[in-house]
Amino acid sequence: MNAKELVALAEEFGCPLYVYDAAKIESQYLRLTAAFSKVERVRINYAVKALSNVAILQLIKKIGANIDTVSIQEVQLGLHAGFQPHQIIYTPNGVSFEEIEAAAMLGVQINIDNLSILEHFGTKHPKVPVCIRINPHVMAGGNTNISVGHIDSKFGISIHQMPHILRIVENTGMHINGIHMHTGSDILDIEVFLYAAEILFEAAHHFKTLDFLDFGSGFKVPYHKGDIETNIEEFGKKLTKRFNSFEKEYGKPLTLAFEPGKFLVSEAGFFLAKVNVVKQTTSTVFASIDSGFNHLIRPMLYGSQHFIENISNPKGKERFYSVVGYICETDTFANNRRISEIKEGDILCFRNAGAYCYEMSSNYNSRYKPAEVLWIDGKGILIRQRETFEDLLKNQIALD
Ligand SMILES: *Cc1c(COP(=O)(O)O)cnc(C)c1O
Repeated sequence: MNAKELVALAEEFGCPLYVYDAAKIESQYLRLTAAFSKVERVRINYAVKALSNVAILQLIKKIGANIDTVSIQEVQLGLHAGFQPHQIIYTPNGVSFEEIEAAAMLGVQINIDNLSILEHFGTKHPKVPVCIRINPHVMAGGNTNISVGHIDSKFGISIHQMPHILRIVENTGMHINGIHMHTGSDILDIEVFLYAAEILFEAAHHFKTLDFLDFGSGFKVPYHKGDIETNIEEFGKKLTKRFNSFEKEYGKPLTLAFEPGKFLVSEAGFFLAKVNVVKQTTSTVFASIDSGFNHLIRPMLYGSQHFIENISNPKGKERFYSVVGYICETDTFANNRRISEIKEGDILCFRNAGAYCYEMSSNYNSRYKPAEVLWIDGKGILIRQRETFEDLLKNQIALD
């Protein structure tokens, strides 16, 4: 999408605003499936937690992907968007037995990541097929908040506990139809990923009834021109070769599954905000926008550096700015950033705003959550209204 189109959407729908480019989501999906075109059975499960708007889920369905969910509510959203239960995998962490049972009763594929629930579930529902989430203990990913495969991680059942897993499976007679790993986000080193995959292959040999192997996600996407990213094409080539040879060893058809969130939607998203104030201080120039970490918390939460462009003046002379929000505590999007000259009223565009952005927004400071627009076939359609004062009061009960 270009600056002109984005400015027009900001004018039509107001700021702050999230915009998602449908064509980019589709092209990322096609890139991933092309990388694995030599694998006979591939399933891409989009990780709903990245961006869960129902219109986005409908688009994902139309493109041909399935979904990965982490809560019963995400399962319900998926069903609401038109997915069949068998197109949904449910991969929670630390949720109650009752919630896992409820998801299984809805007919979705469940994925269990701890021994106590595995034993309880296998005892009570030995016929329901279950996937097991393994922790291969591979340190992957650049950020400890989003790296989930290492030894101290709360995710998955340790690969070292395989004897205990096998005992539970044998004792309960439960049906294990898949094994899964998800080692974290921002994986750059393909070799590390392939090493973790070997651990999963080895684990797979312990089970005779598998239908699929799920390699999770965590592909790194670029945040600015020239930024590093996971080389999906090379990764596809290498894993395809290994997967196809493993399938022969295993002696039964297997599906190769992934569950990308960021990879599919991150770059498709644009966050648009208007500059309220340009303030010169003794040390810097602040550009204060009509938003804050209530709408985009990733820079404050884990130091994400979203590329920021002044789309009202894209060709202007560049100057250094600190871009800040209106929340009444430290609320910084970027420090000392080179941006083309900003005037009050200009629209700033934040890139990579598709994944974990709207999704993590809140009403802090009693602000409304932004509207969301889908850019499709050359026009913008509203897929979520901006909140209103009624939304802030909804569910509150005032004293008489
Ligand atoms: C969050 C999550 C994903 C998606 O991770 P990305 O880095 O956004 O691709 C995939 N699988 C599971 C189980 C997750 O929790």
